[in-house]
Amino acid sequence: MLYKPFHLLAVTSLCRIRSAAFTMSSSASVLVRLVASAYSVAEKAGTIVRSVMSGGDLGIVEKTGANDLQTAADRLVQQSICSSLARKFPHLTIIGEEDLPPADVEESLIETGEYAEVLKSVFPSQYSNIKEEELVVWVDPLDGTKEYTEGLLDHVTVLIGVAYQGKAIAGVINQPYYNYQAGDSAVLGRTIWGVLGLGAFGFQLKEVPAGQHIITTTRSHSSKLVNDCIDAIKPDKVVRVGGAGNKIIQLIEGQASAYVFASPGCKKWDTCAPEAILHAVGGKITDIHGNPFQYHKDVKHMNSAGVLATLRNFDYYFSRVPESVKKALVA
Ligand code: AMP
Ligand code: MG
Ligand code: MG
Repeated sequence: MLYKPFHLLAVTSLCRIRSAAFTMSSSASVLVRLVASAYSVAEKAGTIVRSVMSGGDLGIVEKTGANDLQTAADRLVQQSICSSLARKFPHLTIIGEEDLPPADVEESLIETGEYAEVLKSVFPSQYSNIKEEELVVWVDPLDGTKEYTEGLLDHVTVLIGVAYQGKAIAGVINQPYYNYQAGDSAVLGRTIWGVLGLGAFGFQLKEVPAGQHIITTTRSHSSKLVNDCIDAIKPDKVVRVGGAGNKIIQLIEGQASAYVFASPGCKKWDTCAPEAILHAVGGKITDIHGNPFQYHKDVKHMNSAGVLATLRNFDYYFSRVPESVKKALVA
C-alpha cells in the first residue's frame, strides 16, 4: 500500500510534532532525522506487536492463502509506522506491505520520538543533501506473521527500510520478542539499525566459525526448488526459521553463514531494511542470479528470483547454486 504525501497531515498534528525532540534535531539532515524517527517508530511497533498477542485476539485474515496471513498486529503496526512517518515527512514515498482500506488512524498509534543515539551520529557526507521526496521507505509491519500465529515469537521482526536512487541505504529492525525466553530480568525486545557507509548497531557482530557452512532458510514456504538448491550447496547444517529479518539477524550474529531461498515469495519490504543492515557490515544480498535488488518506488514488489545472502564468502555459496535452479527462477 502506497502512502501518499500530505494525506495525513493535519495542522493540529503538525503543531504537536514540534516537540522538544523535533526542535533539537531540526538542523540534522533529512536522512538522520528519518532514521532517528524510524527507530522510535519501530520501538513503538514492537509494543503494538506484543500488546496484540497479549490481548489474545490475533484477528487472523488469509491474504492469498493459509501461508499468507495478516493479523491485527500487521494492520495496526502498518498504520502506526506509515502514519507517524508520513506526518513528519510528508514528501516521502512510503510503501507498506498490507493493503488496508483508508481509515482515520488513532492518535495513540502515532509516535513522534527521534532516537537520540541516531541524532548524534555522523552520517556519510554524501547523504547530507538528500531531500525527502528522493527517499522511498519500505515497511514490513510484521515479518514472520505465520510464525507469530504459531507462537514462534522470536522469529518476528518489524522492518523499516530506506532507499535512495533505488538502493537500500538505511534500515531499522525491531525484534519485539528478543530475549523472551531468557527469564524475567532480561529486557524484552531490541532494535537494530544501520546505515550504508556508517555501520550497524544494536547487536554484536559475530561470524560462523571458519569452514562451517550453515544455511538458514524458510520454515513455512518451502518447495522442491528451495530444497534442491540447499541440497546442491551441501551445507553442514540447515536452520529453518521464519522471517527475512530474522534470517539476516542469524547471519550477522553468527548463527548461519548463508540465507538461501530459491523461490519467489519474498518482497521488497522483506529485503530493504535487512539489506541495508547487512551491507553496512560488509555482507551481500542478491537474487539467486547474483543480481542486486532495486528499491525505487515503481519497482515490482516481488523478489521473483529468490534471495541469496551472506555476511562473508558470498562467492562460495553463489558458485554452488545449480544452473537448473537459476533457470527455474526468472527475475
Ligand atoms: P519466510 O522465510 O518463509 O519466513 O519468508 C520470508 C518473507 O517472505 C515473509 O514475509 C514471507 O511472508 C514472505 N514469503 C516467502 N514465501 C512466500 C510465499 N510463498 N507466499 C507469501 N509470502 C511469502
Ligand atoms: Mg515479511
Ligand atoms: Mg509482513
